[in-house]
Amino acid sequence: MPSRLIAVSNRIPAGEPPSGGLVVALKDALALSGGLWIGAHPETGTGREPLEEIQDNGNTHLAFRLSEDDLSDYYLGYANSVLWPLCHRRVDLIDMSAAFEARYRAVNARVGRMIASIARPEDVIWVHDYHFFPLASELRALGLSNRIGFFLHIPFPELGSLSVLSQPEDFSDWLASYNLVGLQTRADVARCLEVYRADPRAEFLVDGSVKFEDRVTEIRSFPIGIDVEDFRTQAARDAPDPFGRAAPESFVIGVDRLDYSKGIPNRFRAFGRYLETRPEGSYPCLVQIAPPTREQVQAYQDITSELEEIAGHLNGAFAELDWVPIRYIHRSIDRTVLARLHRRARVCAVTSIADGMNLVAKEFVAAQDPADPGVLILSRFAGAAEDMTDALLVNPYDIDDMTEAYRRAFAMPLEERQARHTACMEVVQRTDAASWAKQFLAVLRACVPTLPRQV
Ligand code: UDP
Repeated sequence: MPSRLIAVSNRIPAGEPPSGGLVVALKDALALSGGLWIGAHPETGTGREPLEEIQDNGNTHLAFRLSEDDLSDYYLGYANSVLWPLCHRRVDLIDMSAAFEARYRAVNARVGRMIASIARPEDVIWVHDYHFFPLASELRALGLSNRIGFFLHIPFPELGSLSVLSQPEDFSDWLASYNLVGLQTRADVARCLEVYRADPRAEFLVDGSVKFEDRVTEIRSFPIGIDVEDFRTQAARDAPDPFGRAAPESFVIGVDRLDYSKGIPNRFRAFGRYLETRPEGSYPCLVQIAPPTREQVQAYQDITSELEEIAGHLNGAFAELDWVPIRYIHRSIDRTVLARLHRRARVCAVTSIADGMNLVAKEFVAAQDPADPGVLILSRFAGAAEDMTDALLVNPYDIDDMTEAYRRAFAMPLEERQARHTACMEVVQRTDAASWAKQFLAVLRACVPTLPRQV
């Protein structure tokens, strides 16, 4: 039997046009291996249904239903109110609850049983993201000895912060059930190794992999990327100006789910300071696209109110009858329009306080006209900054630093813009979505297989 790829992620595409590098890269990898993609059904159910087939632009995926309680305690609860703030250095926002943790473990156990019922011994299983840290340990407990890989799309947590978990020792145990743990950056790998260094159950093998009890795990970085050609083509498409009659003179673009990890309030504050000292006669805008996300969680309601207050305050203070400096759109914008907005922008501001990679940074670079490119302002705390060192790197906690970056970006001569863009574009092309998936799967397929459990 040929080895199929079984991909598992919380969200699966279900009919909408393909969006984002992950979907495109995984679809290609799955098509190559006749594989399967398993994820949560977009509609809730009782949580007891068997796997269901769902159609997606001619592809068939398999979906498990979450119940309403799963959605609130596993997804919004443990995944997004405990693990998300933990990994994004906001332990102060963690909302602990025994019910969240129990439900997280239960959903992982149930998804594990469903996968075990369809996996063949030669299949390779690729698990995605923080919703499924314990999935491989569930599969091992069911007797699976397949090669199982894990990719964490968000930052790896700090060793010290893991103590907030009720059983921090489970965390290293969960990861050790994977043959390969893929992380976004070298800094993430260093943090992960630190966790094992501090764990007396772990030892390091000569090739750098970690031996944990009877299991061996490789830990490597695979920086994720985008479908560069697709985004560039969308950006350069000959289509009407997305602004219509209201085109701004020169603008900064920001595109983020409205998440506290994205550092949007300080981005706005710094823009306000830039407005105070901007060259006379210039009327720059900050166009912020910030679609709502996880609105049922209090921390997301708080950040929404904070941002609306700052935007209202700045517009009240600076707007003229014919100019509004901040255009804040609290809705999702289609990627094809986004691509053209990026190409029109003079500056893009990515100011995350923590971010796995930040694909918007790569999309902005890919969308530029190399003859007259815009400038990327990039937080040092975004994974993208590890390789894209020719962006204007900023400290998102330092408002003056970001104000100065706006000033430099708007004033930057063409030659410097071109040199920085060429260097950033080289990184975007080298780390594109297709090579990310290919490299991860090549390393996973070459991993030493796990021995079947002795019963
Ligand atoms: N995006 C979009 N429409 C929007 C806002 C964002 O299509 O209105 C896309 C954006 O182009 C990017 C992705 O959503 O591809 C966000 O990925 P990123 O890694 O920047 O952040 P995440 O949301 O995964 O934290």
